[in-house]
Amino acid sequence: MQRLVIFDLDNTLVDRQGPLADWVSAFSKQHALNDDARLHLLQFVRERACPETFEAIRDQYGLATSAATLWSDYLAHMARSATCPTYVLKGLSTLRRDGWKIVIATNGGTEIQTAKATASGIVDHVDAVYTSEAAGARKPEVLIFEKAAAGCGADLSLGGWVVGDGADTDIRGGRAAGLRTIWISGSRPWPGRDIAPDHITADVRQAIELLLTTES
Ligand SMILES: [Mg+2]
Repeated sequence: MQRLVIFDLDNTLVDRQGPLADWVSAFSKQHALNDDARLHLLQFVRERACPETFEAIRDQYGLATSAATLWSDYLAHMARSATCPTYVLKGLSTLRRDGWKIVIATNGGTEIQTAKATASGIVDHVDAVYTSEAAGARKPEVLIFEKAAAGCGADLSLGGWVVGDGADTDIRGGRAAGLRTIWISGSRPWPGRDIAPDHITADVRQAIELLLTTES
């Protein structure tokens, strides 16, 4: 099997939940939103956010600020808050030194996902970053894994690994693409669907260590 690993970004290599909660809190305070409105705001951005999301938020709360400004403020906050521990960055470098090709496949817009990968320093430690917007397909669709592999000069048919926290997006998708999988549990129990990952680790550091000790 070729040494190819496709990593998820959000809540795998960078934390999204913490920065998102901080943004909801700051935005709610700034616009004097009550508890109900605050919960509703979280629903808008829980899964993903894009420029259109802020048109809806602006309408919902009757804000004077333009949707474009709201989006760019959100983008700046999320990029500024995206961090990846040094030991994880070092782990990625070690994988590459050992001959692994590393590509990120992430569901989301190119502008925000690239901003996070850049601000966190991850972009300097991987071969490519592939977003669903660029691929024209979202995980778990096989097409995004195919394009991600091709984007770093690998051939998906020769196998590889997917590492991510998404049971459906990363594990089901990775298996459908013919890849081996490591689920980042964050100490959650595996949801017990009809499939299972090849390995479960609590965090990405352990997943990298596991890859470094596999044959390929
Ligand atoms: Mg994720």
